[in-house]
Amino acid sequence: MSGAQAAQVIKRGSQSAAHKRLEVPQGLVSIEEDTVNHQVMMSADHPSIRPTLAADGARPAHERRVRRGAVRDDQRVYALLDLDETLVDKSQAFAQWAAHLVDAQALDAQALSWLIDTDKAIKPRGPFFAEVTRRWPGLGNAQDLWDDYAQTMPRLVAVFPGVVGVLGELRDVGYRLVVVTNGRRDNQEAKLRATGLAELVDDWIISEVVGHRKPGAEIYAAALGAVGCADPRACWMVGDDPDLDVIPAAMLGLRTVWVSHGRSWSQTGTRPDVTADDPAQALAALL
Ligand SMILES: [Mg+2]
Repeated sequence: MSGAQAAQVIKRGSQSAAHKRLEVPQGLVSIEEDTVNHQVMMSADHPSIRPTLAADGARPAHERRVRRGAVRDDQRVYALLDLDETLVDKSQAFAQWAAHLVDAQALDAQALSWLIDTDKAIKPRGPFFAEVTRRWPGLGNAQDLWDDYAQTMPRLVAVFPGVVGVLGELRDVGYRLVVVTNGRRDNQEAKLRATGLAELVDDWIISEVVGHRKPGAEIYAAALGAVGCADPRACWMVGDDPDLDVIPAAMLGLRTVWVSHGRSWSQTGTRPDVTADDPAQALAALL
């Protein structure tokens, strides 16, 4: 997808005169912040950011052809990336896992829709599997079922279309990319390796490893440390969950891209800087 195409599908609010100018240390980027429409219109000196933030979204093709390894450290830019529903289609994988469970255990007719709804309602897996085994005691121990899930899901998840290509482009122009995700280490790391994403990002921070879950500030601090970013304002957060990804990151000063999957933003107060329906479009907003 070209930058111009991406710009067409990314929703941005109308410009306003109420701009606040921010200066990021080290002279990497200066930011025009529209405090009314909650969007950023950066006029950055940074070569990797400037084309992205041009008003028309256009970027000369030759400027995008930066060979990997040719980026100096002082040209680096930073992004934290959520994993489930941002880089990989976890919902589709979950539906497959749940359908197999329903079939193998001969569960009732409402079981599949109940599992899918409950998966969305209860994000932490411990309480989720406790609820599943409370409904169907015959499934046995919740921990055993969770273990099966953690071993199976990495084989079922797929990267959203277009994401691999855009991640490569981001690294080519100097981004350091760190995945920040809630979950078990075995499950999340296996997803990263099975999909090839492990080769496309610089590092990953998993809640079980650091002992803190999103939306906690601690896991974001760990991720900023892993990405090597001293100033949160020079770092983007890309994620699908308003409450786990966008709002906490924005409150810490990061710029945010919300992968909406067609939803409308319903939270009051904090808003994402950029909204895109599709994961690849969301990532392309950083180019
Ligand atoms: Mg997510």
